Amino acid sequence: MAARKKAAKKKARASKKAAKKKTRGYAPRKAPRAARLKAARVVVTLEETYPNAECALNHRNAFELTAATILSAQCTDERVNMTTPELFHRWPTPAALARAPQEEVEDVVRSTGFFRNKAKNLIGMAERVSEVYGGEIPQDMDDLLSLPGVARKTANVVRGVIWGLADGVVVDTHVKRISGLLGWTKKNDPVHIEKDLMALHPQEVWVNLSHMLIHHGRRICIARRPQCGECPLNRLCPSSAV
Ligand code: SF4
Repeated sequence: MAARKKAAKKKARASKKAAKKKTRGYAPRKAPRAARLKAARVVVTLEETYPNAECALNHRNAFELTAATILSAQCTDERVNMTTPELFHRWPTPAALARAPQEEVEDVVRSTGFFRNKAKNLIGMAERVSEVYGGEIPQDMDDLLSLPGVARKTANVVRGVIWGLADGVVVDTHVKRISGLLGWTKKNDPVHIEKDLMALHPQEVWVNLSHMLIHHGRRICIARRPQCGECPLNRLCPSSAV
């Protein structure tokens, strides 16, 4: 019994250490003042255009948002929102999901792609939340990053949406594309894009910035056919076609 406890503690220490490694170096320098002022004008326009922008993944609590965000990798939010009602109906708590047979979870999440891996991560996440965190999704960044399937993007979504804590900017496909079009980044990799956005924008807008850019990417700056003519950013955007 004592040996098992010792092994569990050792495992927890190792995953915390690995999680710390993942967060190291996340303190980019501020971008030049002129660039920050220009970016702020875009943010003000976005805030006026999307005053009620919020997370597009349906959820009722931190556990559901964590699971939905794990499922959203390489998948649209709409598809995830079609999948999660059955998932949360059958396994409404971490304890229930931790006991779920993997094949059954795979069947439910199949349409979101990479379903074997996602089912394994969902069950692993639920197990760790039940066993180590008393059934509650942890708020601490390092603890969140120690959950299976939870990388920085998922942790940022959960901390930002549930607790209003901003450690970074969530970079999804819309945020990545529009940030490039607006001239905010020249990078391709989400980790570097996030650092460019953190350097350009004050911390208080980080959480909402992603929500607004995602809304903008769905409604106006649509991939392959951006509606520059009706875009409120067209005077501020270096990629505007008008
Ligand atoms: S002006 Fe065009 S390219 Fe620029 S953000 Fe608006 S829709 Fe996108």
